[in-house]
Amino acid sequence: MVETASKVRTLKNYINGKWVVSKTSEYEEVVNPATKDVLCRVPLSTKQELHYAAEIAKEAFHVWSTVAVPRRARILFSFQQLLQQHKEELAQLITLENGKNLTEARGEVQRGIENVEFAASAPSLMMGDALPAIATNVEASNYRYPIGVVGGITPFNFPMMVPCWMFPMAIALGNTFILKPSERTPLLVEKFADLLKEAGLPDGVFNIVYGAHDVVNGILDHPEIKAVSFVGSKPVGEYVFKRGSENLKRVQALTGANNHTVVLRDADLDTAVNDIVGAAFGSAGERCMACAVVTVEDAIADAFIAKLTEKAESLKMGKGIDDGVFLGPVIREDNKKRTFSYIESGIEEGATLLLDGRERASDDGYFVGPTIFDNVTTEMKIWKDEIFAPVLSIVRVKHLKEAIATANQSEFANGACVFTKDAQAIRYFRENIDAGMLGVNLGVPAPMAFFPFSGWKSSFFGTLHANGKDSVDFYTRKKVVTARLVDPVFED
Ligand code: NAD
Repeated sequence: MVETASKVRTLKNYINGKWVVSKTSEYEEVVNPATKDVLCRVPLSTKQELHYAAEIAKEAFHVWSTVAVPRRARILFSFQQLLQQHKEELAQLITLENGKNLTEARGEVQRGIENVEFAASAPSLMMGDALPAIATNVEASNYRYPIGVVGGITPFNFPMMVPCWMFPMAIALGNTFILKPSERTPLLVEKFADLLKEAGLPDGVFNIVYGAHDVVNGILDHPEIKAVSFVGSKPVGEYVFKRGSENLKRVQALTGANNHTVVLRDADLDTAVNDIVGAAFGSAGERCMACAVVTVEDAIADAFIAKLTEKAESLKMGKGIDDGVFLGPVIREDNKKRTFSYIESGIEEGATLLLDGRERASDDGYFVGPTIFDNVTTEMKIWKDEIFAPVLSIVRVKHLKEAIATANQSEFANGACVFTKDAQAIRYFRENIDAGMLGVNLGVPAPMAFFPFSGWKSSFFGTLHANGKDSVDFYTRKKVVTARLVDPVFED
């Protein structure tokens, strides 16, 4: 049941294992984007509250970092079990606060759980290396240690999966954590706090401070926060990376995207259409791995576009909680207005509007229908910018080489896909496209937890990516011991 505005509750921060009322005077309303119902109020906490959380996390680190690694891993195993038990509730929360359909929300929960499973292998992941003979009677060994308090700043579009890229691994490796979730989707992380406590996590190891830029600046400036994981838009990620680095912290910032898909003449068109529609319009285009641009060979362009448009037109729009709904709302009214202004700019700049999402827009929630532009060129704003909405641009090209040269002009390089049966073309694509995550004959090539989430160019700032072995390196520091140990003398 959604509470009415008059009875709406205010979220509390979670610090030292307790729910704490924020002292701020600033709040933001959290709404269900499919209905505009107010779900709760989120406090925009103060820097002082963040400082308090950092002190608590620092204290907790002294003990948590010395807990045996298999014991820490066992807590993650219990947490994984609890997440499994609460799967449906978590998925419903995602749909409620984010708007994506329930099937997608269930998929997100699953991806989050996979991160917890990966983190539970901390004992193997944290093992060091040793070489018994680097010189006569001299050996060397390399040990891994946690780094301290870690801050995590997350976006609205994956309220469960993205925080799970961060805190499970960070805490499994012995760090303590402060999460600042998106103020637009702050509800789900409450479940993390409760379930981690139930799993046996000591107080102070995982903390939540709700807020916006003041809390972010607090994380970036606090000397006891040693590393910052950020996921969000490019301008904010760039700022976070620069300010955090200036304060001599480790920072990884996974940022915006504008992903390209290339469809070659020998592609299975039905598979391509199906996957591209899912990638472009799934989660209302609000995915960093969404397909924003399709670059298609002239030879099959008309046939492909006819099928694509027909399929996109048939998508059911509505509340993500309802059966059979594919396309939910965008997150807020501003995002809807911004999408409309991109549609207008596409028309003004001369692209051909094949499907106009404004015609299916509804004011019950922040709904925008699937939108497709043909004859898009690289000078247009709709090609250059990350729109982050159900808007797909089509570029026609003569061949693969031109497709790659076009895509590589983008400032972003998160994901890229190709649809073809030609092994040589696949190899050429792999070797020449600028992108950190490639898909071959599939639409959304989001790597699983044990591989890095590895955007390039303006899609990532930092060195070590989220997930995979990169995350183990990011959340640990190393100690190399070189020891001369001569043979003992034995008396006969
Ligand atoms: P956002 O950048 O607006 O917000 C991300 C976080 O930064 C939030 O916690 C927010 O409170 C904070 N923030 C926002 N403005 C700030 C400011 N001025 N100063 C300090 N902190 C600020 O991003 P969003 O709209 O929540 O999420 C969508 C973006 O995230 C898209 O650009 C998408 O591509 C990106 N994203 C990237 C990945 C990836 O892996 N590369 C994954 C998911 C989302």
